[in-house]
Amino acid sequence: MSPAELIERKRDGAELEPGDLRRFLEAYLRDEVADYQMSALLMAVFFRGLSASETEEMTRAIIESGRRLDFKGEGPPAVDKHSTGGVGDKVSLVLAPLLAELGLRVPMMSGRGLGHTGGTLDKLESIPGFRTGLDLDEFRAVVDEVGCAMIGQTPEIAPLDGRLYALRDVSGTVESVPLIAASIVSKKVAEGIGGLVLDVKVGRGAFMSDEAAARRLAETMVTLAGSFGLKASALLTAMDEPLGVAVGNALEVREAFDCLRGEGPADLREVTLELCAVAAVDAGTQPDLDVARSRLASLLDDGTALDRFGRLIERQGGDRGVIDDPSRLAAAPVVRELSSPRTGWVTVLDAREVGLAAVELGAGRHALGDEIDPAVGFEVLCSVGDRVEAGQALARIHARTDDGAARAALRLEQALELADAPLDRPPLVLGRVDPP
Ligand code: URA
Repeated sequence: MSPAELIERKRDGAELEPGDLRRFLEAYLRDEVADYQMSALLMAVFFRGLSASETEEMTRAIIESGRRLDFKGEGPPAVDKHSTGGVGDKVSLVLAPLLAELGLRVPMMSGRGLGHTGGTLDKLESIPGFRTGLDLDEFRAVVDEVGCAMIGQTPEIAPLDGRLYALRDVSGTVESVPLIAASIVSKKVAEGIGGLVLDVKVGRGAFMSDEAAARRLAETMVTLAGSFGLKASALLTAMDEPLGVAVGNALEVREAFDCLRGEGPADLREVTLELCAVAAVDAGTQPDLDVARSRLASLLDDGTALDRFGRLIERQGGDRGVIDDPSRLAAAPVVRELSSPRTGWVTVLDAREVGLAAVELGAGRHALGDEIDPAVGFEVLCSVGDRVEAGQALARIHARTDDGAARAALRLEQALELADAPLDRPPLVLGRVDPP
């Protein structure tokens, strides 16, 4: 079948033969199918979707486009977490050392910021010297020595995903359930882990703003992972407002240290403990969620998980001294408070707007390859459901210039809504999807 015929079949809503889809994808990798043809297919998929077997076939082609690691042999169970992306989401920085402290191995491959959402690699790179570009042999060695390692996607793993993702990013085809599922699950299967916990974000600051779509994505990913022998569970967690107080790379690293000391914001701690508990129970190392939660909480409160993170930072070339002396992290020259114009209750704190304001300050990228500024961002000092007094500080803005701070203050004001009546504090964990 020619590329054009295959595109027409998907355009018209037919199910593709697995072999045909696979040959099309393989031909694309060999540059025998052009980018414009692949973009056309992606758009057809965006509108027509993919059946379960088509999604599986696409996922298999992405996995087989590169190398596959295997952490399933000897040693403790190897697990990873993937978040669909949020604002202030520094969970990975706490989760990896915490699960390692519990005796699991955590070979974590993460991404950079995308759109208004932050990325774990950018946060890690705000630690002076930290190397996220280890090769796969060193990655394995760090996991063996420290119990966890944190690197970026390497070109050897699922290279087809890199090419497809770049096309999707510029062709309006990112927000497709089967395409997101194939992209995420293929990379995690290729990592060679035995267990995966997915944090599917829901709300204003998430790629999936409504719960039904997020649940569909979670179910698709959990089932798809299972069909490749990867046991996955998903939590649906709220992303209407930023997670924690800090938004921006070095600020978020500081907050992750606080959480690893048993301090820091309650919402960050709750989401992290839930995800870790699910991963540990799925891996069979904890008998139930309650036992897991309390064990994990004590590993935060007694500082042992923080010590593990220190070892990880040191092993990956970073300055471990930043833990006890965060002034060694980049700091912005301008720090300005935004105060409340009135007394009232916070009813909206739009995570997407806060994320976009942070990107404008320089904490994220407008275009691939942009330099980011590790020092800038926000400390958001209020949450939905809080009562605030006129003049009270709602946020602290960390900026490079006075102008930047003033623009950010305006955007932040627009992200906030205050009302005369309180609103119930929304739940953080909205649901769970278990393997079938
Ligand atoms: N993250 C990914 O890795 N892939 C997607 O398609 C979306 C988010």
